[in-house]
Amino acid sequence: MTYVCNYNLFISCFVRILGTRTKRHYYKMKQIIIIGGGIGGLCTALALQQKGLTTQVYETVNEIKAVVAGIILAPNATNVLARLERADQAKMLGMELEHLELTNATGKKLMPVPNKEETIRDFGFAMIALLRSSLYDLLLKALTNNTVLTNKHFEHYEENTNGMTAHFTDGTQAAGSVLIGADGVRSAVRQQVLPQVQLRYSGQTSYRRVANMTLRGAQAHIARGAWGSPIRLGFVPIGFGQT
Ligand SMILES: Cc1cc2nc3c(=O)[nH]c(=O)nc-3n(C[C@H](O)[C@H](O)[C@H](O)COP(=O)(O)OP(=O)(O)OC[C@H]3O[C@@H](n4cnc5c(N)ncnc54)[C@H](O)[C@@H]3O)c2cc1C
Repeated sequence: MTYVCNYNLFISCFVRILGTRTKRHYYKMKQIIIIGGGIGGLCTALALQQKGLTTQVYETVNEIKAVVAGIILAPNATNVLARLERADQAKMLGMELEHLELTNATGKKLMPVPNKEETIRDFGFAMIALLRSSLYDLLLKALTNNTVLTNKHFEHYEENTNGMTAHFTDGTQAAGSVLIGADGVRSAVRQQVLPQVQLRYSGQTSYRRVANMTLRGAQAHIARGAWGSPIRLGFVPIGFGQT
């Protein structure tokens, strides 16, 4: 069995599937192989471990480190973290946003976005902005020791009657019942499962930085994005004196 994982779409489905299938079915499984230790791979590993399943994450880089940037957790993502019993921690590591304001280049509002109260009422959580590295740390600490093996660059998989075998560029292999591809937008797993799928360049390049500054007054808890053509600019307070 092979799954290709996209953080936003896949995790919530997978957590739900795990919740509904019988435990007996899953306990028959041997190790579950996850390719890629990004947010998707780490969340999936945690969800599986919480269901008592054995899983190993194989990550190509030497050390798992997030890019120096922030991330906004929309309520659907926070709901997944809540199911992984990590939503309260995420809240403490970042900032709950009062509002997300999207305008055009001249400051005209593009669309109404629910405020914090409405978001909590409708979805259970506010939007949370935090450092990507804080989210990674939170997930890594929640996993059992040695869940993530680094320096393992996935090359291809084989499927046979015993399950799945992952092959890595260092000549090593890993066997398991299921292989989950969580290896990002240039996924080698997806390339093997769906070779016809081609990446499409959107024409957009993103530059992100973290500034050591605290936004004040009306800006203090608001994420703003000004969508001009061809340039967009945005800033988000992430708490702890950073934006
Ligand atoms: C500019 C920008 C801003 C964004 N802002 C937000 C936001 O505010 N909120 C939000 O929810 N989402 C945001 N996103 C989207 C979000 O970042 C992605 O959806 C998310 O990071 C995808 O996670 P992933 O685990 O699927 O992939 P990735 O984070 O790409 O992780 C894939 C992992 O697989 C590893 N890997 C790759 N190839 C191999 C291989 N062959 N073998 C082994 N390992 C491999 C990589 O090293 C990496 O660690 C943003 C995206 C961008 C580009």
